[in-house]
Amino acid sequence: MDLAELICRLSGDGDLKQACIEFFDILPCGICQVRIDEELSFVYANEFFYQTFGFSSHKDASQISRAKDLVHPEDFSLVRDQIKNNIAQGIYSFELEHRLFHKSGKLIWGLIRCRYSPSMPKQLICVFLDISQRKNTEERLRISEEENRIAFELTDTTMAIYNLAAKTLILPPKAAYDLNLPIVVEDVPYSIVKRKMIAPESEEEYIFNFQQIQSGNPNGVFTLQVKDRDGVWRWLRSKYALIFDEGGNPLRAVITLEDITRQRENELAYQKWVQYFSVERENSIGYYEYNLTRDLYAGNREENIWQLPPEISTFTGAVNYVKEHLIYEEDLAKYTESFCREALLTKFYSGQQEVILEHRRKRKDGSPFWVLGTIQLLSDPYTSDIKAFVLIKDIDDYKKMELSLQNLIEQDALTGLLNRSAFIDKVKSVLARDTSARHSLIMLDIDHFKRLNDTLGHQFGDQALVHLAGLLKSTLRAGDLCGRLGGDEFMVFLRDVPADVDIRPRLENIRQIMRQEYKDNIQVSASMGVSYFPQDGESFEVLYHKSDVALYEAKRSGRSCYMIYSPDMEAPQ
Ligand code: GH3
Ligand code: MG
Repeated sequence: MDLAELICRLSGDGDLKQACIEFFDILPCGICQVRIDEELSFVYANEFFYQTFGFSSHKDASQISRAKDLVHPEDFSLVRDQIKNNIAQGIYSFELEHRLFHKSGKLIWGLIRCRYSPSMPKQLICVFLDISQRKNTEERLRISEEENRIAFELTDTTMAIYNLAAKTLILPPKAAYDLNLPIVVEDVPYSIVKRKMIAPESEEEYIFNFQQIQSGNPNGVFTLQVKDRDGVWRWLRSKYALIFDEGGNPLRAVITLEDITRQRENELAYQKWVQYFSVERENSIGYYEYNLTRDLYAGNREENIWQLPPEISTFTGAVNYVKEHLIYEEDLAKYTESFCREALLTKFYSGQQEVILEHRRKRKDGSPFWVLGTIQLLSDPYTSDIKAFVLIKDIDDYKKMELSLQNLIEQDALTGLLNRSAFIDKVKSVLARDTSARHSLIMLDIDHFKRLNDTLGHQFGDQALVHLAGLLKSTLRAGDLCGRLGGDEFMVFLRDVPADVDIRPRLENIRQIMRQEYKDNIQVSASMGVSYFPQDGESFEVLYHKSDVALYEAKRSGRSCYMIYSPDMEAPQ
């Protein structure tokens, strides 16, 4: 006789029913009898059942008259349908698992074993077990697995499981795809070695670590180089930890694989540079290490020929000190531009790793000399801070030689002024760079020079050209340019002459200086044609033409004078 039948029969016998009810009340599990109606009303429930929900007795639970009062509303209709469906299909013994509410409002997970007896239609006998703890554990496990999964997804780390007995490696799908391997790799490590995807240098360490795993070494770390599905070699850092059974035998190894290719490449580049730096600094007159990210000056006070005061601890401070005390004035602007911390960081982030700057520094006596500053920008592979390694080399001898060679190339052999092509190049580059200022181009031709040649000889004529070139040069300011175009023809470029400044006094000065008398009362003078940038033209060619037109006008109007270009000079006569 089962419980359902028993209770069914008891309904007629008062004493026995009471005895049974008392017996049920001392059982340490919840028992209830439910009517299979819309609300699953309770016919009976023992004390333990009510206690499970926080009531002291069934009297205390007088307002709880139906399962609907206890079952979570989201689960209730499902529970009721399941009961009805099972009975309709002839399944009389079944289990339900769903959520209910404790009196306090706390959620309880219940496992309800149900028994239906056709002899007692429309009723169900249920035994209730509180499985909240198991459910909570399951939930915690699910959350923790989810956390692990997400954590791995968010890193570049892959987790693989190695089965020691089967020698199989189970890979997550993405890692299997990337490495062109099946999800379950058999005969590991040897099948992987046979695929020739482990770099020969890594092979021995790779096999050794699997041997360590097989011999029960609880954990380890190794690095290997692996070819991915595109044939690209990647550096992987692998860590493993073993899982043991209760008898202490190793079962599985959890292996993590982290792609450290970029870090490894950084490390190699960094090591290479540090090595290079230590060799190069022997030949340098100054070397510094800076942490740009933290704006820190990092070193080498003792060995530098320029010692920075000890209180300077930042990169910016060091640069400011160098600017103030060591850089030659004319090169201050370009030094500031190249050594500015923000500019260096911007360059690094836009992919530039090296900044080179030739500039002049000052000797103790204030005289300039040439140095080559090389800044290597590297990300520290360990901290990711941006480091700047600065080498300063004395290139004065070399630079002076280079400059004198350059001068030779640019010089007019007779007068030492710029030659035609150098003059034109320099003027063109100023016109391209310095577009907002006003400049002036002067074409100058010696008057009656043939006469001097004819009278005093060609050689004397040469000396006179050298002399006149020197005089012309003496009238110029820094930044102005002066060249000999050929024969007795010269050109002057007056740079940056503001519109409100009258240059006629300067032209008059040139005119007078060029009036010279050589022996035998041979007199020379100069005629000049003048044009302005940008008013008369924006290109050298146009300005040249206009100055030439004005020079022709000066010659025509009697020589030893200057003419400033005006458009009517070109009007048909
Ligand atoms: P103008 O007043 O019209 O300029 O007459 P000019 O006699 O100065 O004649 P022009 O400027 O047309 O010719 C320049 C002369 O300079 C021609 C040539 O005999 C002379 N000459 C050209 N190159 C050299 C040189 O390298 N050395 C010397 N001594 N004379 C040169
Ligand atoms: Mg002439």
